[in-house]
Amino acid sequence: MVPAAKILEAARQHNVDIIGLSGLITPSLEEMAFVASEMEREGWTIPLLIGGATTSKVHTAVKIAPNYSQPVVHVLDASRAVGVASSLLSDGLKDAFVAETAAEYEAVRVARAARQQDMKRQTFEAARANKPTISYEGITPPAPSFEGVRVFDDFPLEELVPRIDWTPFFQTWELAGSYPAILEDPVVGEAARNLWKDAQAMLDKIVREKWLAARAVVGFFKAHSNGKESIILPEQGVAVHTIRQQMVKNDGRPNYALADFVAPKDSGLTDWLGAFVVTTGIGLDERVAAFEATHDDYSSIMVKALADRLAEAFAERLHERVRRELWGYAPNEHLDNQAIIKEQYQGIRPAPGYPACPDHTEKRTLFNLLDAEKNVGVHLTESFAMLPASAVSGFYFWHPQAQYFGVGKIEKDQVEAYAELKGMSMATAERWLAPILNYDRIRPS
Ligand code: SAM
Repeated sequence: MVPAAKILEAARQHNVDIIGLSGLITPSLEEMAFVASEMEREGWTIPLLIGGATTSKVHTAVKIAPNYSQPVVHVLDASRAVGVASSLLSDGLKDAFVAETAAEYEAVRVARAARQQDMKRQTFEAARANKPTISYEGITPPAPSFEGVRVFDDFPLEELVPRIDWTPFFQTWELAGSYPAILEDPVVGEAARNLWKDAQAMLDKIVREKWLAARAVVGFFKAHSNGKESIILPEQGVAVHTIRQQMVKNDGRPNYALADFVAPKDSGLTDWLGAFVVTTGIGLDERVAAFEATHDDYSSIMVKALADRLAEAFAERLHERVRRELWGYAPNEHLDNQAIIKEQYQGIRPAPGYPACPDHTEKRTLFNLLDAEKNVGVHLTESFAMLPASAVSGFYFWHPQAQYFGVGKIEKDQVEAYAELKGMSMATAERWLAPILNYDRIRPS
């Protein structure tokens, strides 16, 4: 989240030909639109490239390009940046490329506007009335083995290795296919096998020579829902605010909010909410710096990719221990690695910023509850990205009916209620929720 003014200042200083913005998490999307509008205000004429994990052609066409009258181009991955930059800087190619992109983005905008008309939402009140019925017939919310937080320092890396999901590892290297079949793939098989061999050799060193340390904090808190979208933790004096789906459901399906999965106060039951932060990024920066000092980019990318895999594996392994032992509601669970990766178990661990809880600002509440910065050394940037990046966080819900869903787009009536709950101005709430608003907000100038 480099401030727009700083980016533009650097661009002026270096007299650049093109500005490229890379966005890692959803709050960056809004910031990019702002940078584009600042470029327009200051009268820039150079092209703007948009890339990074959360960006898309649709977002670029609909939300960013309209703010800047010069070329704005989405670049799907870094390998395409060279071609795009060459076209934009070539006297012979530029005009045709710009015109083609502009026409393509206009078509994207038209198609999206047509789709939006079909995306009917219901009022917040009606969505609430259609919340799911969560049954407590014959079940008592299980009490965890401890209350409050527990820190796991120097968690054994060997325990994490068998829980690694390798498919996303190959995606990091832009090799498409699922593990293990990818190793035998006629097209990418050989590249995948070579990569796999190098990964195993480095993973072995990471574990044996303790290149990385794994740390976690887990917490369980007495909780009830307020019957709406908030989960109240009375002993901590804290509320976790969730967001309800507002799409029209016509096949009898309910409109979910995560708060539905915690027993409401008037049920008289004592229920619980769990929370966690894990990291395997401790020691990573030093390794990366050492590889970069010798210009060994391959190893630098490899160690980061493996640290990310270990962090996900840690979240998986810890969740398993939570179900079997720490919360202990499924002591006899026996699932193989495939079933665990497919998350075929009771309970969920939704992560703020993901589709069931798209508001990244709730990570602040989560981190405060767990005192995560002190306990595991993971901290939040001002746009709520976690540092070190090889970290995973989330809430635990135990109920067998708890499931992942996507909140989808929401209407102003819910945003107003949410802003009030969070003590935010409407403009601030709309900025954080920008990716899920079902209406065009007026950007404050
Ligand atoms: N095996 C995968 C890996 O190693 O990359 C697991 C990670 S994947 C990102 C799955 C996790 O994403 C879930 O455990 C949950 O924390 C989060 N997640 C997925 N769908 C979600 C949703 N709809 N809402 C909230 N969190 C979600």
